Amino acid sequence: MTAKVIDGKAFAAGVRAQVAAHVTRLKEENGIQPGLAVVLVGEDPASKVYVKNKHASTIEVGMASFEHRRDASISEAELLALIDQLNADPKVHGILVQLPLPGHLNSELVINRIDPAKDVDGFHISNVGLLGTGQKSMVPCTPLGCLMMLRDHHGKLAGLNAVVVGRSNIVGKPMAQLLLGDSCTVTIAHSWTKDLAEVCKRADILVAAVGRPEMITGEMVRPGATVIDVGINRIERDGKAKLVGDVHYESAAAVAGAITPVPGGVGPMTIACLLANTLTACCRANGLAEPEGLTA
Ligand code: NDP
Repeated sequence: MTAKVIDGKAFAAGVRAQVAAHVTRLKEENGIQPGLAVVLVGEDPASKVYVKNKHASTIEVGMASFEHRRDASISEAELLALIDQLNADPKVHGILVQLPLPGHLNSELVINRIDPAKDVDGFHISNVGLLGTGQKSMVPCTPLGCLMMLRDHHGKLAGLNAVVVGRSNIVGKPMAQLLLGDSCTVTIAHSWTKDLAEVCKRADILVAAVGRPEMITGEMVRPGATVIDVGINRIERDGKAKLVGDVHYESAAAVAGAITPVPGGVGPMTIACLLANTLTACCRANGLAEPEGLTA
């Protein structure tokens, strides 16, 4: 069997187009422009690239983008004051603090200072609790993107066996909650899991969020399963820099029913879902109906 390739790039372009259409309508019918504020502290090169991409994507869908760059030496009190200012600003519907923060800043304290209604990353403890109890929340972007692709591919997910490899707060745990919310039978695997291959082989849906290049091989995949590869690993092969996932693509694609490639799978969906979350936050803040198909 050769797996169907789930084209995250094309899917994300579709999500962005839907967001843009909603933004146009909000402006025309309600005189509202959704706005996203991104806070970047310090000079981390990868973070700078992410923030630049987020800014460009935000503008592209017609939203307002507010960038707040601060020196790595900013004090915690100054950063918290900036968050307070953004919380109070009616033009700002979404706030994202680019992680990681420099070591002297307490990330949890900073994230939990964001108004949960504006927490478009879905990392605030209130949103984590709301998701865990099946209530309306802001959902972390990467797992939301995975869920959208899975729903699109399968239709209903109820009753399917889902295995999520990885239990981080930003991917693994919220992914498992979302799959549970869609009535999958969910297993979360991690570095202490016994016989990972056997656990993975039970999965109708296998989500890899491990951070280890090509760790999940075809032998671990159930024939016909849907494989979602969240991993982004920069490796060197044959003297060339290469981006690979947590799944060994060639061997997994030979047995899976569907698979996301790296690059071009989950990655593009993350920014698309950030925009979708900002739109959702804006609609909620203004008492308007939420966009269909763009939330969990
Ligand atoms: P973390 O390092 O926070 O978590 C990794 C998880 O994998 C941990 O729960 C860990 O288990 C588990 N793990 C590590 N080794 C093994 C092993 N040998 N067997 C089973 N489980 C193992 O990573 P993230 O969740 O932040 O990210 C995961 C991957 O996804 C990375 O490649 C990252 O770059 C990528 N990513 C991609 C995004 C995108 O937009 N596409 C967004 C965010 C992340 P334990 O808890 O026991 O240590």
